[in-house]
Amino acid sequence: MTQALQLAILPGDGIGEEITRPCVELVQQALRQVGEPEAVENWLEAGAGTYTKTGNALPDETIAGCRSADAILLAAMGDPNVRYEDGTEIVPQIELRFILDLYAGMRPARSVPGVAGPLADPRGNELDIVLIRESTEGLFDPSEPGTRDADRATDTQIITRKGTARVSEFAFKLAQQRKAKGYRGHVTSVDKANVFKSMAFWRDVFDEAAANHPDIEKGYGYIDAVAMEMVRRPWIYDVMVTENMYGDILSDLAAGLIGGLGYAPSADIGDDHAVFQPCHGSAPDIAGKGIANPTAMFLSGAMMLDWLAVEKSNDNYAKAAALLTKAVDDAFRDGTLVSTERGGDAGVEAITSAVQTALSSQA
Ligand code: ATP
Repeated sequence: MTQALQLAILPGDGIGEEITRPCVELVQQALRQVGEPEAVENWLEAGAGTYTKTGNALPDETIAGCRSADAILLAAMGDPNVRYEDGTEIVPQIELRFILDLYAGMRPARSVPGVAGPLADPRGNELDIVLIRESTEGLFDPSEPGTRDADRATDTQIITRKGTARVSEFAFKLAQQRKAKGYRGHVTSVDKANVFKSMAFWRDVFDEAAANHPDIEKGYGYIDAVAMEMVRRPWIYDVMVTENMYGDILSDLAAGLIGGLGYAPSADIGDDHAVFQPCHGSAPDIAGKGIANPTAMFLSGAMMLDWLAVEKSNDNYAKAAALLTKAVDDAFRDGTLVSTERGGDAGVEAITSAVQTALSSQA
């Protein structure tokens, strides 16, 4: 038996708490079912609520707890009514990406069986692609805050060799791991290398990473053409890698392809730390009503276990991830469990209970 995992758990604001508790219970149940000890839970405060109480949205103890954890599970943060003095919203989850150098934003677009997206693959396959978004530079690089005067404003696209090389390498390694499970083994660079110097540079560095992975095919797509293909036939892709702003836009598009934000998990991964959280925000409009869809949170928990399997070289965590993912799929498969945001009546309790039952039945 291995040592218990140490999890930092940040429920945050809005629907955060109500979707985090059942997610953690399911992660613990999956660990037990593969014979692993339950994880040690370190519940930490951050978000708009914490800011209102303490004047600090991301306390030092929370950062320290995240640094010392094996993995970080985060629900959602922010409240449009709680803002800094300059009017901007409180986004500690984004600050954490820079503090922990989480450069690879992993945004899978995998259909949950029984949850129809807007497109159907003519070959009858479920959609299963992954977008990797560079998350520390580009137009979001805090070292280049942009300029504005009465007549002109600028934002600067920062693309570095280090930033592009490491995120490209991440994408190729992921394609390799997926290839071992039967996927195509293909990485597409999404850029605009025909127009921007920064993007031509990005593509050159991407090519250097590709040269280290001769077993993985590479391809290119210009951002505009890729946006079109993603709403026409997204199944032509396997792993996609792109810079920060293009990734920001395409990751919401990807969530739209699988039935909406309530089904879209994500991860922000660096060399030493990783945060797993649903793509959606804190949904203050439905908080406390029990009608949120916790599925994206559950699938983020499964992604966390899958990442830990590689980090800790422990196949049991991958088995636990597979059990949890299959439990989600089984719960929705026959189409009778319909979440409220898709017009049904299933909220946190009904979805949790269906997934718990499906997980137990695999024991
Ligand atoms: P952020 O900028 O923090 O990502 P946002 O402003 O994009 O947040 P969300 O909080 O994601 O907004 O909410 C957008 C809409 O989707 C809201 O109407 C919200 O109720 C709904 N929504 C978000 N997540 C869920 C969920 N898990 N289940 C049901 N509805 C959700």
